[in-house]
Amino acid sequence: MELVATHGGSVSVLSVARLYINHLLTLKQYEEAAKLCLRVLGNNKSLWEEEVFKFVKCQQLRSVSPYLPTSDDCKLDPHVYEMVLYEFLKFDVNGFLNLIKEWPSQLYDGLAVINAIHDHFRKQHANQMLESLALLYSYQGDYESALRMYLKLQNKDVFDLIKRHKLYEVISKLIIPLIQLDRERAFAILLDKDKIKSELVVHQLEHNKEYLYWYLDSLLKVDSKNIFQNKLVSLYAKYDRKKLLPFLRRSKEYVIQEALVICKQEGFYPEMVYLLGCMGGVEAAEALNIIVHSMNDIELAIEFCKEQDDIDLWNQLINESAKQPEIVSNVLDGIVDYVNPEVVVSRIKIGQTIPNLRESLIKMLWHYSIQEEIFSTAQQIQLKDYFDTHSEVVALQRRGQQVSCKQLCPLCHRPVLMENSVFNCIVVFKCGHIYHEPCVQGVLFDNPCSECKLRTNDPDDEE
Ligand SMILES: [Zn+2]
Ligand SMILES: [Zn+2]
Repeated sequence: MELVATHGGSVSVLSVARLYINHLLTLKQYEEAAKLCLRVLGNNKSLWEEEVFKFVKCQQLRSVSPYLPTSDDCKLDPHVYEMVLYEFLKFDVNGFLNLIKEWPSQLYDGLAVINAIHDHFRKQHANQMLESLALLYSYQGDYESALRMYLKLQNKDVFDLIKRHKLYEVISKLIIPLIQLDRERAFAILLDKDKIKSELVVHQLEHNKEYLYWYLDSLLKVDSKNIFQNKLVSLYAKYDRKKLLPFLRRSKEYVIQEALVICKQEGFYPEMVYLLGCMGGVEAAEALNIIVHSMNDIELAIEFCKEQDDIDLWNQLINESAKQPEIVSNVLDGIVDYVNPEVVVSRIKIGQTIPNLRESLIKMLWHYSIQEEIFSTAQQIQLKDYFDTHSEVVALQRRGQQVSCKQLCPLCHRPVLMENSVFNCIVVFKCGHIYHEPCVQGVLFDNPCSECKLRTNDPDDEE
């Protein structure tokens, strides 16, 4: 060939080359033949198509595929690329996947290739086939199908795909498989309200209570006012009871009656007590009943009565103590400062044995005696303070008062001190106001200071 090229001749280089390609193919030197194609065919579309068909016959498209032109300058008929892909699909699935990754998707009819994969799906190559499908579907813009393929593959790249193409609308039907794949990464998307609405997520998870519990529990942390909190009562009851009572205390977004029904069904006493306590009245009495009879926790009963601060509840508790002598001493210990202990003591029947009564009474008497001591000490301190302050006031009032010549009489607005015999006599009030005596005569003498209404008829107030 080089000889023909250098020395020329009646036969063209190309014809010789093409004959040589035929020759190489008959010798089964496919690789050599393919390389020669690249060397001599250039960007000639029709020549390429002709030569490629020679490789079809001997099922050696795979050898020529790396050399096929794929640029915009020389694009072959889509059918050619498809044939190459089909051959790979049949004999070399990994090579097929590589081509799907490498070749620009507009070279061939994606849908046709997708159908071919479905027709030739082989389980032993499922991963490569699914990945190829995922890529082909995304090239087609069918991201939902692409996501499904990634999910089948359990490939976490799916989250990047979602972010890259903002497929938040598409994922609404794929929420459960996404959570199954990676709960943390799925929730990072699902908890972002700007990306996907909580209503949608909740709707999808409605039939998968455990996922719904995970989701709403996490949602509560990012949005404490969300409207789905009512659902959390039953979910916490089922999946994580220790979170239930703190939730009931913290949240205002659930219906107490509904929550109560759930807690009753489950027999959750502390939660029931809290809810009944919130309802107050008859319900609070029921709560106390539960504490005393079902929980047998007399300390809690006392705390409950203190919290509710309701005399009816105290009476209910005291009545209980009359029926159960063993709780009398606890009740006595608890009610100090809230209810007169006499009521409890008076209910004790003669001859009745009350465990620990002596200790309780001693404790109570100690308490009251200490309290009395505190009161009397406080009173002494108060009294001393009173006398101290009183003597300060008296000392202050006994002080002399300076009268300056700049001071004006509030009635005539002239200086109180004047070289005028008529006005030389002045009247001074304790408030500090000074008047000329003639000015106040008959006006203020028995009345309060006209400036501040201080009573002048109080003997302590006038000097
Ligand atoms: Zn005056
Ligand atoms: Zn005054």
